[in-house]
This record gives sequence, structure tokens and C-alpha cells, in this order.
Amino acid sequence: MNAKQAGRIVVLGTGGTIAGRAQQAGDNVGYVAGQVRVADLVSAVPGLAGIALEVEQVAQVDSKDMSLAVWQALVRRVSIHLQNPEVSAVVVTHGTDTLEETAFLLQRVLQPAKPVVLTCAMRPASALVPDGPQNLSDAVAVAQRAGGGVVVVCAGQVHGAWDVAKVHTYRLDAFDSGDAGPLACVEESELRSFRPWPVTPPGGTQDAELLDRFLAAETLPRVDILTSHADADGGLVEALMARKTDRPLRGIVVAGTGNGTIHGALASALDAAQVQGVRVVVGTRCARGRVVPHAGLAFADSAGLSPVKARLALALELLMD
Ligand code: ASP
Repeated sequence: MNAKQAGRIVVLGTGGTIAGRAQQAGDNVGYVAGQVRVADLVSAVPGLAGIALEVEQVAQVDSKDMSLAVWQALVRRVSIHLQNPEVSAVVVTHGTDTLEETAFLLQRVLQPAKPVVLTCAMRPASALVPDGPQNLSDAVAVAQRAGGGVVVVCAGQVHGAWDVAKVHTYRLDAFDSGDAGPLACVEESELRSFRPWPVTPPGGTQDAELLDRFLAAETLPRVDILTSHADADGGLVEALMARKTDRPLRGIVVAGTGNGTIHGALASALDAAQVQGVRVVVGTRCARGRVVPHAGLAFADSAGLSPVKARLALALELLMD
């Protein structure tokens, strides 16, 4: 695919390792994320100099600490820029830890017709050989060439928002799309596509009411994640139900064993919670595959979403109640 987007590309910075700094250049793990301004990240990539870019710092956080307030600021800025006819695409620099959740959120609430490309790094900007500059360069190349929808660019691969997950703690190619596989790879700024681009992704068209409610929310409906495992019991469910808080429990996502199976003792407690009005959704703790629906499932399945994305999907659904 050749470069086809004519307008300006907006690069939004949110922090992460790509903007991280360590005391010593050789240190790839003992750094502080979210230190370098996105304007400096962009100007450190010589190949971006001739491209019409607008740069904006939306936040400066370690994405392990991602909050509703930062998500709202990001969704708002992405939405505003996408509405500008002079803007052809948005690139977002982000930490790797919750990148898949932010990608899913942007896709779910914005369903963008233009490209929204998230990128990141596994090594800080101060590293001897940082990976951020190449990832940023690739992300801009994808933004110039891609169809609409939210994608993640890392280590020369392009992943769709629905499928992408961080799968490695240290390797530069830390992301994977499971059974679906990557959408494309980036080679010398050109895209080599492997499967259809998610121009009309799952989830339908943009829901203006959902966007409004998300942006106005003071908190998201509380949905917690539990994992089923050997020797599990219902203690955590009971503790969540008993917790006195101004943000009451509305849902539980269970990372089940295998095809969404749940330890009997945990399942009994979940049954009791469901009777009291808590929504229960079951995914799998397996790294690959989805819960294959069948008549024996006691709870709703996560429709192929990973537990962290199913948590967000359920919270957004409850926001619409
Ligand atoms: N903790 C960092 C973050 O998510 C990790 C990274 O970006 O690789 O912001």
C-alpha cells in the first residue's frame, strides 16, 4: 500500500516506556516511564521531519496507572482531531502495559473511520538502542497508509484493537494477536497486509450516546476480574459482595480454566452474586483461543474478548443501563 492520506497527522503523547528515562543508558528495566515530551520523541526521528505532523501532550503517565480521567482526556482529544477534515489520522504514543485496553476502548467508543494508530516501546528513550523511534516511524507510516479503525504498531507488526494483547515482559516484539494473527507488517515504511483491515470492525457503528456517557462519567461501573484455579473457593466473591463502597460491584469477569470452566466452589459463589444482580461474564485464562459457547455454560461468555477487554466491555455496557 502506498501513502494515501493527504491531511495532517496528529501525534498524541500519553507517556509510557517510549517516553521513559533511566539513569544509565544500558539500563532497559530500571527507568521511569513518562519523562520525555512527545514533541522530543517526534523530533528525535529524522524521517518524520518532512511530514505534516501536529504534536500534543495529552498525559504523561506510566500506563500501569491508567485512569478514567486520562482515558477521557485521550478519547476527547482523539475524537476532536478526527472530526477535523484537515486531519487524516491520529497516532498515540502509550505505555505497553495497558495498551490493549486503551486500543479496545478507543475502538469501542469511537469506531473511527480514519486510522488511529497506537504505538509504544519496550525500552526507554534513554536506552543504548531504543525501539521507540522505529515504532514511532512505523506508526506514522501506517497512519499514512491504513484504512480506518484502531490498530497497534510494535516491532514491525500491526495488530487490530480487538485481538491485540501484550504477551511478553521483555522482548521487543511484546504483542500478539492470538489466533487472528497480525493485520500486517511494516517493512521500510510500506505495509504488507495479511488479512482485511478492520474498517467496519465488530461492535457496530459509533454510538454517540455511549461516547457522551463515557466522557461525562465520574466513575465507570465497577467490574472486577477473578481467576479460577486449583483449590479456588468463593471467598473473593463474598469479599467483593460485602465490600462497603460508594462504587458498588456491578459485574465480575472470570478468567476461567480452559473453555471457560470454573472451580465448583467459585461457581457457587458467582451464582449467588448473579442472583443478587451482579453480571457475570466468563472468559479464559488460556493465552490462545476463545470460550466456545455451549449449552453447559452457566454464565455469559466474553465473546472472544480477553478478561481485561471483557471487563471494559461490560463496564461500558453497564454505563448504558
Ligand atoms: N510500565 C510501562 C507503561 O506501561 C511499560 C511500557 O510502556 O513498556 O507505561
